[in-house]
Amino acid sequence: MKQLFIAGNWKSNKTVPEAEEWLKKFSVHQDNIVLCVPFTVLRVMKGKTFGLGAQDVSPFPEGAYTGEVSARQVHEFADWVIIGHSERRKHFGETDELLAKKAEQAKTVGLKIIYCVPDDQTVIPKNIDVVAYEPVWAIGTGKSDTPENANAVILNIKATSQVSVVLYGGSVTADNVASFVSQPAIDGILVGGASLDPEKFSALIANAR
Ligand code: PEP
Repeated sequence: MKQLFIAGNWKSNKTVPEAEEWLKKFSVHQDNIVLCVPFTVLRVMKGKTFGLGAQDVSPFPEGAYTGEVSARQVHEFADWVIIGHSERRKHFGETDELLAKKAEQAKTVGLKIIYCVPDDQTVIPKNIDVVAYEPVWAIGTGKSDTPENANAVILNIKATSQVSVVLYGGSVTADNVASFVSQPAIDGILVGGASLDPEKFSALIANAR
């Protein structure tokens, strides 16, 4: 049986007390699960028995870049970082060029990268650990890609990049997760909305196995 990689993305949700509540109710603890949370709750989520990630990182090193969080600062708390999520591309105008700089910064400190792409045509920087194929229209809409199409796109991504671990993301739930992870090329999933509720996320992970 393949070892699935399951990543959660809290997006811009949860305060410190809410994160503490989530922890009390989350029942699955494994290092092939990586939870990517806002910078402000990284400290609370650190040191648990699942992997921890941030959702963004500065394209610059430490220094005079007001408001930015550098890779070195992220790495104090987390081992992983999401780069290139489509919400960052859309709302913050992040380009492939900028994202490559973020990836470079992440690598200088040893952060592992989950790099999001909306299709199999998007440039993927070198030294990416995990890619997540996330069609824009499927994110947060309740309309997922078909497992067969996701498998085909992921096969293409693997054929044209050096990345061997590729996830599917986009409206994955406890009900549809098995249909994605049973596809041969899909190595796991990136889950947004369904990771916010600890019980639903635990059920989703159980159904993925
Ligand atoms: C995401 O945030 O990467 C995502 C896939 O969101 P959702 O699961 O809510 O579609």
